[in-house]
Amino acid sequence: MQRLSFVFLFVGILLGGFAASQILHFHPLALASVITSTQEDYVESDALLREHFREQGSFPKKEERGNRSVTATSTGAIKIPVMVYHSVRAHVSGESAIQDQYDITPELLESELVYLKEHGYTTIQFAQVIGYFDHDTPLPEKPVILSFDDGWENQYTHAFPLLKKYGMTGTFFIYTNPIDHQKKHWMTWKQVVALDQAGMEVAGHSRTHPMLTKITTDQGLDKEILGSKQILEQHLGHTITVFAYPFGMRDARVITAVKRAGYLLARTTHAGVWNNEEYRYEFTGQLSTDNIADFERLLKLK
Ligand SMILES: [Zn+2]
Repeated sequence: MQRLSFVFLFVGILLGGFAASQILHFHPLALASVITSTQEDYVESDALLREHFREQGSFPKKEERGNRSVTATSTGAIKIPVMVYHSVRAHVSGESAIQDQYDITPELLESELVYLKEHGYTTIQFAQVIGYFDHDTPLPEKPVILSFDDGWENQYTHAFPLLKKYGMTGTFFIYTNPIDHQKKHWMTWKQVVALDQAGMEVAGHSRTHPMLTKITTDQGLDKEILGSKQILEQHLGHTITVFAYPFGMRDARVITAVKRAGYLLARTTHAGVWNNEEYRYEFTGQLSTDNIADFERLLKLK
């Protein structure tokens, strides 16, 4: 079971990287080295990845990652940059150029938080966006959302203290299966609860991080989408309202399952900063890289 979960983790990172590759123009397979902090882990995960793709098929096609179009002139358009982070950790030896771009160091994350502060941005949570859509609750003038995907322990160790230091908030999309299995690199439930109790937003990201568009039955989708919501709710003792599609992959069936589960908003990995009520189940999410110039560029997208 642990090996299987590891595959999901690895594939998650790789496909997240694939989405990044669409923006950053590098070959997704080059991300095979982006995973873990030790060479030993890498060797094992690479073998498991190959095995996984033999079973599951290839990378998601563009249409499987959905299509949505919101611009500054769309009805009810609001500008909200949403950053998507994965590992927050120091560089490790033998790191590839891709790895260097994909992960972010705690120092760089801190520089980004300082940048936001100095330039008048306010970090918000998706819950506030839901409040804006449903109850006209006003949003601050320059809102930005910082989202941290998957449940990496290094996010707890490095991102959480920095967010607290600057009085900022973040959204942590947790896929539940690896949590508390004493698996290397994942948070424990105690840590997830601590994030929640400190006022961070904890949100759903499925149970096993599958390609949801490849699940053929509604029951299968409910198990992943509703199931992860229920598990989070059991641990945190309150309703979970926000979801992020693993790999950003969704189609009409998947979106319907997210609605059926009772989520009120869902994030993709679709680049861009414009969102509106119509596409609340296809909210943007821009993969953040280890490069402050890119961060600034993402914030300034028109
Ligand atoms: Zn993910």
